[in-house]
Amino acid sequence: MNKELVIVIDFGGQYNQLVARRVRECNVYCEIYSYKTDLDKIKAMNPRGIILTGGPDSCYAEGAATCSAELFSMGIPVLGLCYGAQMMMFVLGGKVEKAPVREYGKTEVMVDTGSPLFYNVSPATICWMSHNDYISETAPGFEIIAHTADCPVAAVQDQERELYAIQFHPEVLHTSEGSRMLHNFVRGICGCSGNWRMDSFVKESVDAIRRKVGNGKVLCALSGGVDSSVAAVLLSRAVGSQLTCVFVDHGLLRKNEGDEVEAVFGPDGNYDLNFIRVNAQKRFYEKLQGVEEPERKRKIIGEEFIRVFEEEAKKIGSVDFLVQGTIYPDVVESGLGGESAVIKSHHNVGGLPECVDFKEIIEPLRSLFKDEVRKVGLELGIPEYLVYRQPFPGPGLGIRIIGEVTAEKVKIVQDADAIYREEIANAGLDRSINQYFAALTNMRSVGVMGDERTYDYAIALRAVSTVDFMTAESAQIPYEVLQKVTSRIINEVGHVNRVLYDVTSKPPGTIEFE
Ligand code: GLN
Repeated sequence: MNKELVIVIDFGGQYNQLVARRVRECNVYCEIYSYKTDLDKIKAMNPRGIILTGGPDSCYAEGAATCSAELFSMGIPVLGLCYGAQMMMFVLGGKVEKAPVREYGKTEVMVDTGSPLFYNVSPATICWMSHNDYISETAPGFEIIAHTADCPVAAVQDQERELYAIQFHPEVLHTSEGSRMLHNFVRGICGCSGNWRMDSFVKESVDAIRRKVGNGKVLCALSGGVDSSVAAVLLSRAVGSQLTCVFVDHGLLRKNEGDEVEAVFGPDGNYDLNFIRVNAQKRFYEKLQGVEEPERKRKIIGEEFIRVFEEEAKKIGSVDFLVQGTIYPDVVESGLGGESAVIKSHHNVGGLPECVDFKEIIEPLRSLFKDEVRKVGLELGIPEYLVYRQPFPGPGLGIRIIGEVTAEKVKIVQDADAIYREEIANAGLDRSINQYFAALTNMRSVGVMGDERTYDYAIALRAVSTVDFMTAESAQIPYEVLQKVTSRIINEVGHVNRVLYDVTSKPPGTIEFE
């Protein structure tokens, strides 16, 4: 098969997957390898182009990540980004030093639009800089094709050898014409035709999974969330009845969610997943009796989940592979993202495996961002309402009920949340607000209804706008919508006599209300 492949070589930068993602957006298939990968292995893959990423090191320092000069003389176009650019210069005989002025953030860059790298780019363009070192002398054979006020060498090229290096980060959206530059590299300079699509991702994954699994048995924990649903359907497409999916209903799901998941993935649904639903509501409620501390609740729910899953797995017998819906942001946050620095540990990664005997984990979505996972989901024919589902925490409503969790409180928060979601959708806001839900406060207060005194709970409504879920603003929902939701909740949901809207941002709050 004559597949057009571009290889990204990872030197430990924070944006490496973004580089891969931007290349995929040019409809060119792309894989990431560590800088430690053997050059022969890379050559054997016959890539059309190679991109070197940024990285934390200084290329002139001892022990810095490096590559051999041979990489630049294989006749394959190479594009160095930031650290990758510095290293290309360093290895080929230029000079890199600590910059007199380091640059960070949006910076105006003057580019030579005659370069194939900057074809159709504005002569003065805003780019994202993040560097302490700079190229003080270019390597022999290179000409400067961009500069800034503080950085004399912001990009260089040797057209003959097809070597290009950029000091800034075209992969970051703050570089306003960065996608065009990467497009110019992969589609122009490397000559890729751009015939790769998300359906190719599905097809290639299916082939790869088949080769890996053979006749083996595969087990998947399905939560009904986007990632695990897409992973399960992809696996089912690859290995059909060799797959068994276990769906644990812990009684802390949104209203009707358990039935909805069963309707889509169960025996009457569209997929052949050997779907097993475990109705473990009672077990979870019992374990949660009297527990008020949110972190304890999370732990209890997590542990009980594993126990239930383990029991089911034992009934199925030995399995060879366990599927996980890990996606790229989970990988990065857990510090498993190749060469890049650890940010924080993550619940989705490494949670289940120890409890079940299996040979290997399959994580088919490991290289994708959330919106790419959604595209794959649509490609696989998963219904839109599932594909665009909001993020929902593993411990579910267990943490959206402040204080002790009881079946009665679950019902209250489910009903209130369903009304809230319905009205947000009626107002046409469901795609623009990134996350919104109702939580049940543990506060009861006096009210009056039908001339009678009430002493009931307050529901808190939360809605946030966020890009990356790391920081968030409280969403400015029109007052009429809030009033409508409030009156419906009070009229339709028992034991609620007050509705509050949470206007806290993150930080200092969190997105969840626990
Ligand atoms: N560590 C190098 C510098 O400080 C490269 C930084 C980067 O790749 N973002 O200049």
